[in-house]
Amino acid sequence: MKSDCVFCKIIAGDIPAQVVAENAEVIVIKDINPRAPLHYLIIPKKHVPDISYLTPDDHQLAGSLLMMAQELSQQDPNAREFRLISNNGATVGQVVFHIHLHFLAGKVLS
Ligand code: 5GP
Ligand code: ZN
Repeated sequence: MKSDCVFCKIIAGDIPAQVVAENAEVIVIKDINPRAPLHYLIIPKKHVPDISYLTPDDHQLAGSLLMMAQELSQQDPNAREFRLISNNGATVGQVVFHIHLHFLAGKVLS
């Protein structure tokens, strides 16, 4: 838990969010500013700023993020095909410095 991190606050329940799925390691919320009919954020409960900070101990955690994407895809016919995006660093558009995968689906994406 990082006290100034918006996703840590959501995970702690201090900031409300629409939770779509959750397990021991991962939480999925609806993006507050959706860029597709389905726009979810797949977030590890552990605070890691971006993918470059993962360590060998995080193998399972990293896999859990992708497995959650598969789960989301399987539970909604509109999400059978989907795009994952991960911004790592401010210069490529990262705004929240806690790992998250954008899960986008539900429309034709160019
Ligand atoms: P980034 O650019 O860091 O990859 O994306 C951060 C995403 O988090 C953005 O799409 C933004 O809309 C979303 N976001 C930022 N703050 C909040 C929040 O408080 N609640 C929710 N649900 N999404 C947020
Ligand atoms: Zn955090």
